[in-house]
Amino acid sequence: MLAMAALCGLYACAGDTTAEGAAAQEAAAETERPEYAIVIHGGAGTIRREDLTPEQDSAYRAALNAALDIGEEVLRKGGSALDAVEQTIRYLEDSPLFNAGRGAVFTSAGTNELDASIMDGRTRNAGAVGGVTIIKHPISAARAVMEKSPHVFMVGRGAEAFAMSVGLDTVDPSYFYTQRRWESLQRAKAREKQSGHYQVDPNPDYKFGTVGCVALDRDGNIASGTSTGGMTNKRWGRIGDSPIIGAGTFADNNTCGVSCTGHGEFFIRWVVAYDVAARMEYLGETLEQATRHVIQQKLKSVGGSGGLIALDKHGNVAMEFNTEGMYRGYARPGERYVGIYKE
Ligand code: ASP
Repeated sequence: MLAMAALCGLYACAGDTTAEGAAAQEAAAETERPEYAIVIHGGAGTIRREDLTPEQDSAYRAALNAALDIGEEVLRKGGSALDAVEQTIRYLEDSPLFNAGRGAVFTSAGTNELDASIMDGRTRNAGAVGGVTIIKHPISAARAVMEKSPHVFMVGRGAEAFAMSVGLDTVDPSYFYTQRRWESLQRAKAREKQSGHYQVDPNPDYKFGTVGCVALDRDGNIASGTSTGGMTNKRWGRIGDSPIIGAGTFADNNTCGVSCTGHGEFFIRWVVAYDVAARMEYLGETLEQATRHVIQQKLKSVGGSGGLIALDKHGNVAMEFNTEGMYRGYARPGERYVGIYKE
């Protein structure tokens, strides 16, 4: 909170609803944009201070900091927002702490089916993959779809064949296995048996864990990306919002970049990522106003739990969530914030 407070007056403070916060946001729009900005999430959900041991708390903070280090390094050297997003998410996909790549949640059938998307705010080019099982870094597959094919969205076997054709790393599906996620599936199945009906709904021990990144580079380009294993116990080829452009991911240099996490069905139906950009474009709302409205009013009123990260062309950052917590962080030259709980 201290770090956040120190930013007031310079940049908008994510989660700041006061008149001063709004004034700070307006002021930020007038200031010169920072050389770069990067914001990340590692999922939202029932994440309370008492749910994590001090060791787990530090492990998450270390991973979030390491991910920001990677993205910042790319941006500091003048690299593109797209490269920063891809490199940062590859790191988070490799970490077993998050529900993406290694550490992904299990489907009802005991498999891992991964979804990812990426968008370039400069051109509105986009790429996505859904339901892939052998691609080590789904975010890189999404980028390859964007840059090396005439398509936007590929799923399943076709997406895997395409990823192999462009030389991306593949792994045996067992690579994605983690004991912790396997046990979550067993608990979900036990609950399902008890209730007598199929469910993927969030429940008290459910923590999301999708990863996402939005970056603004030296040239003023914004890029966004999201990667996930989806929701524990999903069935029938279920795909959530994460690989859907406009729902889980969106980027446009003229407004903002957004990456979402939460109960995907709601994020698809409320077209959340694009809704934030549309409110800015059509209503003239600031990033803070638009993200707050969509997450705290629209989604919350219909029971859609989750959150998002976003940044605009001025380098303002938003990290909004209506759950107990969200793994999150951002960096700008000389600034760094990492958080987990509602603070
Ligand atoms: N939004 C993801 C999905 O519904 C899950 C998450 O964010 O954890 O697939």
